[in-house]
Amino acid sequence: MLIDAHCHLDFPDFDADREAVIERARAAGVAQFIVPGTTRRRWPAVLSLGARDDVSVCLGLHPYFMEEHAAGDIEALAQVLDANPQSVAVGECGIDARFGDTLDAQWRLFDAQLRIAKARKLPVVIHCVRANDPVAKRLRQLDLPAGGLVHAFAGSPEQAGKFLDLGFVVGLGGAVTFDRAKRLQRAVQSLPDDGYVLETDSPDMPLAGYQGERNEPARVAEVCRVVAGLRGQGPEAVAANSTATARRLFRL
Ligand code: ZN
Repeated sequence: MLIDAHCHLDFPDFDADREAVIERARAAGVAQFIVPGTTRRRWPAVLSLGARDDVSVCLGLHPYFMEEHAAGDIEALAQVLDANPQSVAVGECGIDARFGDTLDAQWRLFDAQLRIAKARKLPVVIHCVRANDPVAKRLRQLDLPAGGLVHAFAGSPEQAGKFLDLGFVVGLGGAVTFDRAKRLQRAVQSLPDDGYVLETDSPDMPLAGYQGERNEPARVAEVCRVVAGLRGQGPEAVAANSTATARRLFRL
């Protein structure tokens, strides 16, 4: 049994055929989905998906959508988390250094969410693009009690090791399926059996061979096969390890 530890099933991309997408995932052995929040406006859609037995939700403010976030959103996040204790983590939050013009505001927003997670002893789901070292440094300073997930990890073996030392796990998705991702593939080989979860980040992050297509949770089975091949293990072992790690991290 597989868990897609990070997928945006609430996005409008799935409005036309969400049930069929979930059915295809189930046919591929993917039985559970972790759906993160991205903006205050989308939290209600995330929470309503979370009413399903096979969906667990996180709530947060994503750095990709800085122009959508407003001054009261942090206070609103604290309130919506307290009102919805079924939320398994704070996120998706983080730093995307591709957008340098909003970097200061991204750090303020990220910091505030890390503090919310710390106060509630919740794990955090982190989006971290070209910022592995400064994010690891900040996590070390804050010492979060419940750790979290660095989703769509794309760094080096050393950077993965730093996150593991801080009580985090890394999320492995479509990026590992590209032959050119040699450094990331070395990182995949370096991880302990309890150091990673599998994810798709659907509808984004297409796998090799599917560029330009909408990604969907069924393909976590393919991520599993690629990770197994890289690690020299059977897909069943990788599925069992990643599922156990997702359950431990999110207390499922
Ligand atoms: Zn995401």
